[in-house]
Amino acid sequence: MKNYEKELLPLLGEVEKPARYTGGEFNTPDMNKPDAFNFCICFPDVYEIGMSNLGISILYQILNSMPDMVCERCFAPWTDMERKLRENNLPLFSVERKIALKDFDAVGFSVQYEMLYSNILYMLDLAKIPFYAKDRGEEYPILIAGGPCTVNPEPFKKFFDIVEVGEGEYMLPELLEEIKRGKERGLSKTEILENCKKIEGIYVPSLHVKGEKVKKAMVRDFENAPDATRPLVPNIEIVHDRACLELYLGCGSGCRFCQAGFYNRGIRERSVSKLLKTATETIENTGFDEMSLSSLSTGDYSHIKELVEKLKIVADEKRIKLSLPSLRLSSFDGALAMNSRKSSLTFAPEAGSERLRDVINKNVTEEEILSALKEAFADGYTSVKLYFMLGLPTETDDDIRGIGVLAEKIRRTYFEIAHNKKLNVSVSCSVFIPKPVTPFQWCAQISMEEMERKQQLLRDTFKGMKGVSLSWHDATTSAVEGIFARGDERLNEVIEEAYLSGAKFDGWSECFNFDVWINALKKKGYTIGDFNKEFKENDELPWDVIDPCVDKSYLWREHEKGMRAERTRNCREGCNLCGIQKTTKCTICGGRK
Ligand code: SF4
Ligand code: SF4
Repeated sequence: MKNYEKELLPLLGEVEKPARYTGGEFNTPDMNKPDAFNFCICFPDVYEIGMSNLGISILYQILNSMPDMVCERCFAPWTDMERKLRENNLPLFSVERKIALKDFDAVGFSVQYEMLYSNILYMLDLAKIPFYAKDRGEEYPILIAGGPCTVNPEPFKKFFDIVEVGEGEYMLPELLEEIKRGKERGLSKTEILENCKKIEGIYVPSLHVKGEKVKKAMVRDFENAPDATRPLVPNIEIVHDRACLELYLGCGSGCRFCQAGFYNRGIRERSVSKLLKTATETIENTGFDEMSLSSLSTGDYSHIKELVEKLKIVADEKRIKLSLPSLRLSSFDGALAMNSRKSSLTFAPEAGSERLRDVINKNVTEEEILSALKEAFADGYTSVKLYFMLGLPTETDDDIRGIGVLAEKIRRTYFEIAHNKKLNVSVSCSVFIPKPVTPFQWCAQISMEEMERKQQLLRDTFKGMKGVSLSWHDATTSAVEGIFARGDERLNEVIEEAYLSGAKFDGWSECFNFDVWINALKKKGYTIGDFNKEFKENDELPWDVIDPCVDKSYLWREHEKGMRAERTRNCREGCNLCGIQKTTKCTICGGRK
């Protein structure tokens, strides 16, 4: 395996943020394992974003703790480094040992969000690896896709030999061991893939038989799942520059638009004692000065008060800050009082009217919002960020005007409490994108024209309202995200076409070029409407190849309830028998009604 360090060193002085490519971070594991299997985990975005991903950090630590395994990293190089690589005819390389991607035994891509799809091809192109699995011979590494987007792998499946469906903590080590064994026995790639296909959660597109379902892999015992208390400490500032403590997997709130909430069921909590041990070790091993509690709905953790009280003692002792980022309104009381960072409060009512909040099962009334905020304001908060979505199923213009009404009521509440002082309110509106494995997976995404009309209505609603800043997501980006989210295998060629026409870093507004995507669709004979369409109850959905362990019939029942604006209780109040109980036991209910 050639090391490209000598060739790369002179280039580092000519690019922005060379530390993106140098490696050598604190806690870098020993990679001197002569007979090890060499795996490279790729994140198709820049270093600062990839290094903030907890899942990658955990897998990196697990794999490097195995005696016969080396896991290196590779991030999408920014365009200045791309130019240097192309000018010098150098291949894309790993951060740690500067080895070309194509020289690894296996290469995994973590596909975290839809707007990264063009960057998969960007990295393969720079790595001089053919895009399609069918065009790669025995001399190329086995390419694996993992991460949340494998909930619908159809749009990118042809680029990969293997797609990992579900949680990777156990699946990836088992998969790599299987590939290693196969290589040692001299098996062909196809023979190795046949063996890998038997592992839970493994989808091999080239060997897939129509009608087969790939059951999502799950961490069944989160309490004893491999811990990762020695994360790399980056040399440059990254997006989430702090230690992270994951309290539990899953979420029981059942917000009907939320893919993370449905796809990551069931709820599997860790004990307070385990979390305290993990927190203490992580702080000691890294020297981070801040720790965040990271879970889908952190405040809903069963023992949040006890945990935060005990963590505060650890935090004071070690002189670190605690931050609680993702609070839901229902969990305000427990967590709010103990949040050490007071000033700005963030929460997401998602919809402006109570009716629409019932449609999406965001179980919170206006009264609850205002009274929770009243407490928060009394506790010292002086600004508030509100998140909403536009284009939700059944939304009317009155629902949109309701966003303005709610913002105004919140301002008035503060005004009364803070003795005539004005509250800073920031309102951010994203576009609703129906996602697979949610009760809204059958819904059409609204057209760009309709979205622009709704955004104009929103601007009109807020006109003249002082102290409120309003922002909204671009309708074109959301349209492309929507086609990837629920699209099918026809998109593989569209992605290739768009990449070859210049698409890359689509998640970056300065790089995203909508025309490239429209032209790529057109060239292949499609329109946005072919993918952002409505499905009927019994239609076969592109992602039906995956068994998410949540019953499709349950999702449909939730869909119907949503259309009737009927609520469903939080799992923490009792199991709703979503189907997960057949696969694993939720901490909350043990799978009982
Ligand atoms: S609280 Fe709702 S939006 Fe948040 S993760 Fe859970 S289901 Fe999703
Ligand atoms: S099995 Fe029950 S408690 Fe667990 S996620 Fe499903 S509905 Fe909720």
